[in-house]
Amino acid sequence: MADEKAPDSGTGHWVDNTRVMPRDLKLKRAEQRLVVEWRDGHHSDFDAATLRQACPCATCREKREQRQTTALPILEVGAHDEILLSGAELMGQYAIKLIWSDGHDAGMFDYRYLRSLDPR
Ligand SMILES: [Zn+2]
Repeated sequence: MADEKAPDSGTGHWVDNTRVMPRDLKLKRAEQRLVVEWRDGHHSDFDAATLRQACPCATCREKREQRQTTALPILEVGAHDEILLSGAELMGQYAIKLIWSDGHDAGMFDYRYLRSLDPR
């Protein structure tokens, strides 16, 4: 049985997973923003371009790594401007899947990762 509050093997302290759980998630399609109210009271407001650039799926990670090592990244300029955030699906208790206007839906943002994208 999986337990939400499992003892952390490193410190022996109880890990509080509830702090990185959203209380409310809102996809604002018109504004292209994902607004998250966290259980600890924190409020995040992500723009779609940021989320797409941070897409954690294997394909996007690979593309980002290639871009970092490519001397002439000219082909990628402006490529993200056309892609809209068109939907979101909750994946159980731990992640949200974002669906994009180009059909890309492989990115599952687990809540810890999503929270780590918030600069505040
Ligand atoms: Zn992706």
